[in-house]
Amino acid sequence: MPRPIAVRIHPDAIRHNLQIAKRSAQGARVWAVVKANAYGHGIERIYCALAAADGIALLDLDEAVRVRELGWTGPILLLEGVFDAADVATAVAHRLTVTVHGDDQLALLAAANTTRPIDIQLKMNSGMNRLGYRPDAYRAAWERARAVPTIGEIGLMTHFANADDGAIDWQLDRFDAATQDIPGERSLSNSAAVLWHPRAHRDWVRPGTILYGASPTGAARHIESVGLRAAMTFTSRIIGVQTLAPQETVGYGRTYEVEQPMRIGVVACGYADGYPRHAPTGTPIMVDGVRTRVVGRVSMDMLTVDLTPCPAANIGSTVELWGEHIKVDEVAEPSGTIGYELLCAVARRVPVTIDTLTPQTREERESVAA
Ligand SMILES: *Cc1c(COP(=O)(O)O)cnc(C)c1O
Repeated sequence: MPRPIAVRIHPDAIRHNLQIAKRSAQGARVWAVVKANAYGHGIERIYCALAAADGIALLDLDEAVRVRELGWTGPILLLEGVFDAADVATAVAHRLTVTVHGDDQLALLAAANTTRPIDIQLKMNSGMNRLGYRPDAYRAAWERARAVPTIGEIGLMTHFANADDGAIDWQLDRFDAATQDIPGERSLSNSAAVLWHPRAHRDWVRPGTILYGASPTGAARHIESVGLRAAMTFTSRIIGVQTLAPQETVGYGRTYEVEQPMRIGVVACGYADGYPRHAPTGTPIMVDGVRTRVVGRVSMDMLTVDLTPCPAANIGSTVELWGEHIKVDEVAEPSGTIGYELLCAVARRVPVTIDTLTPQTREERESVAA
């Protein structure tokens, strides 16, 4: 019998969250961001939920080809563009839209052997200082791109450094000043800007994390009122129970010492499954539908929980590590990370099942249209 650990993926939740993103950025078209294998959910598993997207954005060429082969006929955007001439050939063959963040990429596209022009997103570095042309160099880059016969439509793109903590105007103003007389569709907003910065919505938005039900800030409380649904449920079971006397400790390093007699549940899940080793005592977890807490150090294949709030729990009791009730951000935040990282890092050894996409009910359609 395999270990009782499992991940369940809910395409319905992604379809629902995509509608929330669309409603939030009404009038803008949506690039559904599915990089990192759909933030760990599996592109093939969630593809059926993306029908309402206008385009699909990702990083890896092989993921782009997989999306095309799944039957997606709309635009597919490579968020870091191409790396060599072979990539250009693949981009041409699969009609990919490519980000251009520097002259090396312009040269690769100029050398492309194609009669069908390649659409690009010309990226501005408006302050993130990772990729893109600086504002003062942007217009000249746009002129150079426009002169390349193998380049088709040119979209104007930038990416925010801190849309999750409120401030985007410093970047937005630079972007607007440097692009004011340049035609073309604009794309600026990640999830945080989709939810909280309507000024940045423009022609296309690029939500990622909210599609999966995680918070752009890394804190579950910030999206409480948004109505997102968790797209992944990570579960396991109790495989052992210990009753400890005062002063006894649990796990490596003896970091947790009980004060009163306590039943401790041993859960079949550890950091080798993708649960964060840094989760401290107190991290929320659910046993038999009751919220309780992790105690002691997370080990490779097991972690331990306080069974005080659920005295009936025993070997075989179900555990939700994160999902509908325990938000992934509630685990991430005390562990010093964000939901993004946890979702992407579930280990290969964890078996995955997928809910089938249910037909959308009239109420669902109406609730998101409202
Ligand atoms: C990852 C990414 C996004 C999506 O970001 P979220 O915070 O997950 O919404 C959007 N644009 C670019 C360029 C990205 O790399």
